[in-house]
Parts: sequence; structure tokens; C-alpha cells
Amino acid sequence: MAKTELTIEEKLKALYKLQLVDSELDKIQILRGELPMEVKDLEDEIVGMETRIGRLESGINEIDQEISGYQGAIKDAQALMVKYKKQMDDVRNDREFKALTKELEDQELDVKLAEKRIRDSDKKKETRVAVLDGVKKKLEDMKSVLEVKQSELAKIIEKTEKDEAKLQKASEKAKKSIEARLIKSYTKIRNNYRNGLAVVAVERDACGGCFNKVPAQIQLELSLTKKIIACEHCGRILVDPEILEKKKAAKA
Ligand SMILES: [Zn+2]
Repeated sequence: MAKTELTIEEKLKALYKLQLVDSELDKIQILRGELPMEVKDLEDEIVGMETRIGRLESGINEIDQEISGYQGAIKDAQALMVKYKKQMDDVRNDREFKALTKELEDQELDVKLAEKRIRDSDKKKETRVAVLDGVKKKLEDMKSVLEVKQSELAKIIEKTEKDEAKLQKASEKAKKSIEARLIKSYTKIRNNYRNGLAVVAVERDACGGCFNKVPAQIQLELSLTKKIIACEHCGRILVDPEILEKKKAAKA
């Protein structure tokens, strides 16, 4: 970049201006608060729940298939029983009678066994259906919570998106006027602090970031704007308020 090198004073002013813009952007983020994350978490949870509902439903389907299998077995056994009972009428000897009786008893047992299995499956199904209903109910609740949060977030975004876009542009523009090395430290310091302050003015002899006293010697050096100076306590870049005053006066 063939840019004329800025003076330290110009660099500090540019950094301070960038800080003001970024602080406005931070305010918008604070206004949105936890909402974007809450919405994202809810959406993820809902997807997980829908998967769970799908699994529960296919489990219940399997049980239904089991039950209809048992019902089919009962029908088959009953058909055989009808057949054997009919054969009883034409029975010719004791051996045949015994054999048919045995067959009938076997079929009766099969029917009883299938009936017991149906009862067991019904119970299993009942439990699963209760779980499914619970999950479905919870899903409905979550969906309505999500709806509320989404519309809240949409309202805030609608209110702030124009400002945000403008500020974003201003931030990008301000960054372009400052050398990459400085932007890197600026960003690093900014990320270190929850309030996002990386460039602060000295106010009442104290650092505007950590409020620790700034020694007179340092304040003097700051006013000379020979180099960029960081607060010895918090590492934030310090700016002599006089420089900023000058800027305000120039603007007015
Ligand atoms: Zn400090």
C-alpha cells in the first residue's frame, strides 16, 4: 500500500475513531444479548427432538407389526382348529382321535401364547406412546418459545440492522486507514476485554479502561505524541484527551 505514513497523532485519532464505531457496534450486540445464541440452541434442540420422535415412531411401528404378526398367527391357528374339528367328525379310530386332539391342543396353546405376546406388546407400546406424547408436548412448547424469541430477535434486528450496516462500513473504512500491525494489536486488546475497549482516553489522570492512575511522566509523553503508549496496568492504548478535544474543535 503506497500510503503516506500517518503521524502518531493521526494514528491515535484514527484508532480512537475506530474504537468509537466499534463500541457502537458492541452496543447493538449487547441489545441483542443472548437471543441469537438462544435461538440457535433452541433450533438445534428441536432438530434433535424431531429425530428422537422419528425413532420413537418407528419403534412403535415395529411393535404394531409384531402385533399384527401375532394376530395373523392366531387366525392361522383358528383356521386349523376349525379344520381339525371338522376332521373329528370323520375320525375312524382312537389313534386318529388322539392325534387330532393333540393338534387341537397345540393350536390352542399357540393362540394363548400369541395372545400373551400381544398383551406384552400392547404394554410396551403403551409405554412408548406415553414417552412419544411427552416428547411431542415438549417439542410443541419449545417451538412456541422459539417463535417468541425469533420474533423478538427479528424486531431488534429490524430496528438495528441499518445502523449496524452503516457502522460496519465505517469500521471497515477506519481500519483501512490504519496499518495492519496496529489493527492486529487493537483487535487483540479488544478481544481481551468484555467491554471491547482497546483505545481509551486518560480521564482525571486515570486510564479510561481500568481506572488506574496514569503517572504524570506518561501523561507528558502522551501529550508529545511521539509514540503509541499502552496503559501499564491493562495494556489498553492510551490517548491524550487534548488530541481528541482538538479534533472536536476542528469539527465544530
Ligand atoms: Zn488501564
